[in-house]
Amino acid sequence: MSRSRVVVVGAGFAGFQAARTLSRNLRDKAEVILLNPTDYFLYLPLLPQVAAGILEPRRVTVSLPGALPRVRLVLGQATEVDLAGRQVHYEGPEGDAGRLEYDRLVLAVGSVNKLLPVPGITEHAHGFRGLPEALYLRDHLTRQMELSASADSAEERTARRTFVVVGAGYTGTEVAAQGALFTRALADRQRVGHIGVRPRWILVDIADRVLPELDRRLSDTADRVLRERGVEVRTNTSVKEATATGALLDDGDDIATRTLVWCVGVRPDPFVSEVGLPVERGRLVVDSRLTVPGHPEVFACGDAAAVPDVTRPGEYTPMTAQHASRQGRTAGHNVAASLGRGVPQAYVHHDLGFAVDLGGVKAAANPLGVALSGPIAGAVTRGYHLAAMPGNRVRVAADWLLDAVLPRQAVQLGLVRSGSVPLDTASPELARVPGVPFKES
Ligand SMILES: Cc1cc2nc3c(=O)[nH]c(=O)nc-3n(C[C@H](O)[C@H](O)[C@H](O)COP(=O)(O)OP(=O)(O)OC[C@H]3O[C@@H](n4cnc5c(N)ncnc54)[C@H](O)[C@@H]3O)c2cc1C
Repeated sequence: MSRSRVVVVGAGFAGFQAARTLSRNLRDKAEVILLNPTDYFLYLPLLPQVAAGILEPRRVTVSLPGALPRVRLVLGQATEVDLAGRQVHYEGPEGDAGRLEYDRLVLAVGSVNKLLPVPGITEHAHGFRGLPEALYLRDHLTRQMELSASADSAEERTARRTFVVVGAGYTGTEVAAQGALFTRALADRQRVGHIGVRPRWILVDIADRVLPELDRRLSDTADRVLRERGVEVRTNTSVKEATATGALLDDGDDIATRTLVWCVGVRPDPFVSEVGLPVERGRLVVDSRLTVPGHPEVFACGDAAAVPDVTRPGEYTPMTAQHASRQGRTAGHNVAASLGRGVPQAYVHHDLGFAVDLGGVKAAANPLGVALSGPIAGAVTRGYHLAAMPGNRVRVAADWLLDAVLPRQAVQLGLVRSGSVPLDTASPELARVPGVPFKES
């Protein structure tokens, strides 16, 4: 009897867990193929620490061939799904085209930066969704601090030391909190007394509080830590226009800056809408068993899927790593069941709380609903990340230890330039290479 073929598209939280569960449950019964543009799983929650120079970029990655030895990794980006012919077409890293036939398909392509129709944003802001963007930001912050130190005019010095983050969700809040510590450390080494201008961080959000989507107690903790650190928190405010030298806020404040970090949230990967299946706000519609209605051979999970939240009837599960990885496991389990191994199950998960690392020893967390702050929250948050990472834990812990005892390394490697990480990209996981064709959203 020939082996079935299962193709998993996307190796983020959902796809990684789906492939892992399938390779364990099906063993010789099916060939599991994982299609992903990179050869690593990216642990996104620690990305702000890469931008702040705490963690080296490889620390937040986990090698797919190393972690999933029984899964066949195909490097590439899906470009089309032929539902009738049961094939996925893709483009490889060197522009070559390929196709994969499947008996079962799991779509787990995740999300990309959300855009808003604000003039100048796509040209002058940078997102924060992938490793190239984090590396770019780390270099950019270092460069601004260095250029400001040698600037001739006070205006330029101040502008280069002003950093604006738009969006006070967990990503923007962590970027501002960690970024403020990073630039302060750089300034201290430049003998700031001589330069005379402290770095200024501004966190802007249209909502009336930071972390608007999370428990109020986490917001209060984060707000307090940010303000103590000197971050200007501007709620009920948005950006009206961005230019190469500034950001105009809707309260009329025109801020001279060379840094605009766009953290207003994410939208499902635009590839999802091109598959030709029903979507709900850009997410693929699935039932509680993560199957696409009318296509029992197609499953979807994670940020790319509109998964009914059975714990909150009428709603879909939020786009979080916590849900994505558990949905990946359920999808893997249900694919195996559809091939005769096990019994299908509905996706049910009660939120276990959230952890926001604010840098230093500070964090805001509410594991199992218990609100924590200060060093205890910091320890819980770091312990949580180590437990949640599917690999590379020792290296991450080693970097944290080194960061606690050594000054941060302030060098720009210049490997990712501004034009390589445009905000309006459908592939934040890949740096754009000049001359290489690129599929855009
Ligand atoms: C900076 C940051 C911090 C975060 N912090 C937290 C946190 O602390 N806690 C939390 O719960 N959540 C957090 N999140 C959200 C969480 O990371 C996402 O909800 C989670 O990654 C979703 O998992 P996923 O598998 O659906 O998508 P992803 O993890 O984004 O994975 C999608 C994968 O699909 C691949 N892909 C995309 N398009 C294609 C294609 N066409 N063909 C093939 N492969 C493709 C991508 O390369 C990627 O590998 C954070 C997000 C960000 C950006």
